[in-house]
Amino acid sequence: MGAGPAAGAAAAAEEDPLYERLRAYEGQAAANSGVGKDPVNEPMIRHWCEAMGDASPAYPAVAPATMLQVWTMGGLSGNAGRTGVYDELFALLEEAGYTSIVATDCEQEYFRPLRPGDRVTFDATIESVSPRKTTKLGTGYFVTTRMDVRVDGETAGTHRFRILKYTPAAKRPGKSAPGPAPQRPRPVVNRDNAGFWAGVAEGKLLIQRCDACRTPRFPWLPGCGGCGSADWTAFEASGAGTVYSYVVMHHPPFPAFDPPYAVGLIELAEGVRMISNVTGVPYDKVRVGMPVELEFLRVDAELTLPVFRATGDTGPGPSETGPSETGAATSGKGR
Ligand SMILES: [Zn+2]
Repeated sequence: MGAGPAAGAAAAAEEDPLYERLRAYEGQAAANSGVGKDPVNEPMIRHWCEAMGDASPAYPAVAPATMLQVWTMGGLSGNAGRTGVYDELFALLEEAGYTSIVATDCEQEYFRPLRPGDRVTFDATIESVSPRKTTKLGTGYFVTTRMDVRVDGETAGTHRFRILKYTPAAKRPGKSAPGPAPQRPRPVVNRDNAGFWAGVAEGKLLIQRCDACRTPRFPWLPGCGGCGSADWTAFEASGAGTVYSYVVMHHPPFPAFDPPYAVGLIELAEGVRMISNVTGVPYDKVRVGMPVELEFLRVDAELTLPVFRATGDTGPGPSETGPSETGAATSGKGR
């Protein structure tokens, strides 16, 4: 204790007896010689590619690298090979009052492609437990688990994921205390997407089109995912689209959002998809295939967002205006 490379961690352990107990789990196996329930297989690859909209001809001869974790999943009935170590560690945290959990991030490395027929085995290790940290969510410990995925004894990839097990921060008292109204999050504008937001400021929804292969793309990216060309031209979307998919957000409530509300994946007439709100229809009346039309929502003085208004036969809406004329209904000018 005290000596060694992790002097800072040791010091933290002296001040925090729980951390000292948690740290004893570092390096312990959370799963030994787990075996994937199914071999890598074409149907699962096809489902994934469809869900992701990835039409690369490389699949399904090989599996997308990002499917790495899929082949290790145990489903509802779980996987053999799990040790009780993870449960023990969690029980220790629960007893100490760290009852909430949130997944924070995940990192993967790929060493060889997986192909249909490959039989995956995996080991998981509790790689590290952080000293106690205080975040906006609350105070707790980050636990990082590393999973090594192998085929025929050869490492195909590693999957590292981190969770925060925490005690939620106390809610601020005096809910009625009128603070400034929470604002919707601001978009992160960078060199790659500045043109898009410049378009929004002018009441236009701009899509990129690859100069080399003519493939339209959204969201904005510096290069073409189809042919790799870095040359592109922006063009204005017609504003017509359909609801390709949607979710209804009930929980958790985010500041400035008022659940339940529908978040749509809108397929534009130009063939690209974007995530946006569906307006002009109650959240529980949003349907896949519903026609929608672009409009611009003035959220506040600094923020205007493209959203999509249902245009189909959605029943008489008491507060809805009549059908717009041609093109997009715009509300709020650029400046
Ligand atoms: Zn291209």
